Amino acid sequence: MKKILIVEDEPDIVRGLTDALEFEGFDVVSTGFGKDGVRMMRERGADCVILDLMLPDLNGYAVCEEIRAFDSLVPIIILTARGQETDKVRGLEAGADDYVTKPFSVAELLARIKAIFRRLGRRAPVEEETFEIGPAVVDGKKHTLTRARKSWPLTFYEVELLKLLYERKEQPVSRDEILEKIWGIDARTTHNRTVDNFIVKLRKMLEDDGKEPKHILTVYGHGYKLVP
Ligand code: CA
Repeated sequence: MKKILIVEDEPDIVRGLTDALEFEGFDVVSTGFGKDGVRMMRERGADCVILDLMLPDLNGYAVCEEIRAFDSLVPIIILTARGQETDKVRGLEAGADDYVTKPFSVAELLARIKAIFRRLGRRAPVEEETFEIGPAVVDGKKHTLTRARKSWPLTFYEVELLKLLYERKEQPVSRDEILEKIWGIDARTTHNRTVDNFIVKLRKMLEDDGKEPKHILTVYGHGYKLVP
């Protein structure tokens, strides 16, 4: 049974989510405090974390960073306030994989969680687990990106996104396709900047100058193209 950790201090949201997730057959644990969330994750782990940004003790970014320090792979979905684009960027930079905006529908969050587990379950062992992008080496098994003797841990979605772009190298891949393939989000129904925010983060690791990228190019009005 997949275990989901909810870190959120609003009892109504926790109750609603717990009921819906348990109904779907997930094992749910929750806490209203960030520090507890980190401790629960460290001691017992979980298959997915739903994390609110506004918590009474530690904010969600700090919780995210602390979890990422010992677990770079567990999918983390953050709950953000409406219209706070900077929150989303900051959250993704702290290592979150996805976000939903409050007030959100439980159905939407559920769809997102199911998409994550579908994606995780579909992961076939790829023969070419290591590939090169310019001077950088991506290790899909160890989940690291190494460039100029520096190494960064990659999250699950970062590896998947790089893999998709690499498989289609030299060809433009649309933002909508990336959203649908990697995040399981129907791009027609939602405005979602997740892909762009992830690209910004990946460029920081991959490129000498993130403003003049040589490896992940923007295809205006469409998406991105990887040039290894
Ligand atoms: Ca809160």
